[in-house]
Amino acid sequence: MKRNFYDLTKENLQEMIKPSFRAIQLFSWVYQKYSLDFNEMTNLSKNDRAEFDKIFSLNLPELANKEISSDGSIKYLFKLKDGYTIETVLLPMKNEVVDESGEIVKHARYTVCISTQVGCKMGCAFCYTAKGGFKRDLTPGEIVTQVLYIKKELNLPPERRVNIVFMGMGEPLDNLENLATSIKIFGDVDGLSISPRRQTISTSGLATKIEKLAKLNLNVLLAISLHAVDDELRDKLMPVNKAYNIASIIEAIKKFPIDSRKRVMFEYLMIKDLNDDLKSAKKLIKLMHGIKAKINLIYFNPHEGSEFQRPLRENVEEFKEYLNRAGLICTIRESKGLDISAACGQLKERSLKNAT
Ligand code: SAH
Ligand code: SF4
Repeated sequence: MKRNFYDLTKENLQEMIKPSFRAIQLFSWVYQKYSLDFNEMTNLSKNDRAEFDKIFSLNLPELANKEISSDGSIKYLFKLKDGYTIETVLLPMKNEVVDESGEIVKHARYTVCISTQVGCKMGCAFCYTAKGGFKRDLTPGEIVTQVLYIKKELNLPPERRVNIVFMGMGEPLDNLENLATSIKIFGDVDGLSISPRRQTISTSGLATKIEKLAKLNLNVLLAISLHAVDDELRDKLMPVNKAYNIASIIEAIKKFPIDSRKRVMFEYLMIKDLNDDLKSAKKLIKLMHGIKAKINLIYFNPHEGSEFQRPLRENVEEFKEYLNRAGLICTIRESKGLDISAACGQLKERSLKNAT
């Protein structure tokens, strides 16, 4: 059986093929020239090309559907080899700037929101992905090709760096080994060259896995989906809280190595009449004591069958002001892609039932 090339780090390749600079050449063809065919890799000998073609496969996922939102974000539905589908969202963060002569003076900036599992085990009450249950982990290659596919499709020059957020379907830390491999592949300077500082892992707070991640010293950024300031409510919203309560998450964060210029992001999903009051804001300030934190308030996105409601804008603004006054950095997340269900928590494996 052929090995999926995209599952391998450059170091893995260097163990398999000699001399070791072949691995650099291959990485460059695949991740910088977007090649899908060993036969076109002209700086390799004919023998090598034939050999690599025999041992490696280079298959991007199949595009099953694509929706473009009025705000420019694009949702991709990718079909995997076994028929399951996953979603990836491209979010343009800054638009291209063009001068009077029509020349581009500043390129558009992109963030890609990627999936790490088919479905999710965590069962959060507010999350659409949770409704389909868990199917399986993604392989490193299935994680990496979500970004490669899009860069190739948009024909972005290789040096155009994108940011990655692991905020699509699935709980990244529940697939830690494959996640770590994909972070290394993304970060390789001979490949996509997406520095770990441009990669943010969002987690529901698996405290022991946060500690494991810290030990791997990958230098990635961390975002914690907190959403509630007391265990009673968090237990109800996020069943995983019964295993890892708020105190255990805070403790793990305090030990997590953070670049001196960076902060840990805390995502706080605002749900009408549940956690959007100033009493909660006050508790949040207390919880953040001693942590270099940045709070990101998210509007709950209602979806079919959801029992919760979107908070009022004035309450979200007031909550933010309250945190700011206490000296906390706090922003409100713009919900992109609302019209195509590409916003947070709305990604779902729609063809789950049809998959074999
Ligand atoms: N499993 C990880 C990453 C994927 S979810 C995690 O939970 O962090 C990405 C973000 O979307 C999380 O902060 C999650 O809480 C949020 N989210 C889930 N459902 C949502 C909804 N209906 N509206 C807004 N955000 C939601
Ligand atoms: Fe999983 Fe995150 Fe959704 Fe919770 S919010 S069910 S952890 S994807």
